[in-house]
Amino acid sequence: MIPKTLDLCGVCAAKLATAYAIRKVAGGVDRKVTCAECGRRRYGGTYEVVLKGRKTGKPIFDELDRAEATQREEAR
Ligand SMILES: [Zn+2]
Repeated sequence: MIPKTLDLCGVCAAKLATAYAIRKVAGGVDRKVTCAECGRRRYGGTYEVVLKGRKTGKPIFDELDRAEATQREEAR
């Protein structure tokens, strides 16, 4: 599987780290990015995101949406 690279803010990177194997791309260290997950312009970096384990065949953003919904419930 080819790793997917995304620009992520720190918050989303931490969130995705719970569901995915992510690692910072070399050189993609802390800078202003437009987060691919929340769409906000924040401090973050470029990450490689790899689905952990299972093959769902679904686009990664379906998975990301679900992770976000879970996060929202936990935040309440
Ligand atoms: Zn974000």
